Amino acid sequence: MADDGIHELAIIGGGPAGYTAALYAARGALSPVVIEGYAAGGQLMITSDVDNFPGFQDGIMGPELMQQMRAQAERFGAVMRTEDVTEVRFSDDPMSTPHELQIGSDIVRTRTVVVATGATARQIGLDSEVRLQGRGVSYCAVCDAAFFREQEVVIVGGGDSAMEEATFLTKFASKVTIVHRREELRASKVMQERARTNNKIAWDLGYVVEEVLGEDAVSGLLLRETDGTATKELPCTGLFVAIGHDPTTALFQGMLDMDSNGYLVQQPGSTATRVPGVFAAGDVADHVYRQAVTAAGNGCMAALDAERWLAEQA
Ligand code: NAP
Repeated sequence: MADDGIHELAIIGGGPAGYTAALYAARGALSPVVIEGYAAGGQLMITSDVDNFPGFQDGIMGPELMQQMRAQAERFGAVMRTEDVTEVRFSDDPMSTPHELQIGSDIVRTRTVVVATGATARQIGLDSEVRLQGRGVSYCAVCDAAFFREQEVVIVGGGDSAMEEATFLTKFASKVTIVHRREELRASKVMQERARTNNKIAWDLGYVVEEVLGEDAVSGLLLRETDGTATKELPCTGLFVAIGHDPTTALFQGMLDMDSNGYLVQQPGSTATRVPGVFAAGDVADHVYRQAVTAAGNGCMAALDAERWLAEQA
């Protein structure tokens, strides 16, 4: 922070994007402050084994990976604040009037901001679903499919993600049942067709998940007819929930450009938003890849973009 109490860079969000932006910015002598939020760590905090983050031959647990990323950024001087930003006031000319981030009664003033607030996978909303997260309940087929070799799994959802993930899961699982609450699917025709012609995929349309069964690991689902009361049990060892994601963008409504699903819009070929000195990184601006490694890469880009932007203002 400069003598005038104004930071060069503040990062909002404590997931792979935020911590990687902090690492690069700290090594670039920007002395970043990271307002990591009370729910620091992001989606990896509800992930057990992470086998697809490069550099860990034997895999690493999600929370451990986040702890390592955080500590690595701190090693170079990034300052962590485990608090939530409650309000933002962006400036059109942050070199003369800094951006302001409200944290309770405190205000952080800063020339540049990286927004890395992430997204959350929608949950069905069952206690049993929460209890068995990481023990058979997953929100990322790409991450966890390989743990279900030759097993029977279920995917819940009727959108493109559900079709894509079901198709992907058939590379590993012996059987994949798609459970969707309506007879009609929201997914595009081409994605539906790909799933429908896959003989490892079975369908339970017009059903909702009433309960995830199992004590220490998933052993099946209790399904109920959406428009009725009839129930049935479906044995499985994995439940993949693919009912959409919600980007964490409520703070930025009316200030930053968003697409129709609420994701922040980056300028082409950059992490810049339309507000000078404000950059977006990671899942908050990405509904396509949604991987820890892509979020981390995007966080690196945002730190470099912020550094260059500051250099251009000098
Ligand atoms: P989505 O299109 O919003 O679909 C969500 C699905 O989950 C819907 O079928 C919805 O049912 C169901 N759902 C929502 N809440 C539910 C609940 N509480 N309980 C049970 N079911 C629930 O989300 P998405 O599939 O993640 O796709 C998001 C965007 O990414 C879309 O624009 C999609 O086209 C795009 N995408 C594209 C590709 C590709 O082209 N390769 C791949 C993945 C995603 P209803 O239909 O009944 O509302």
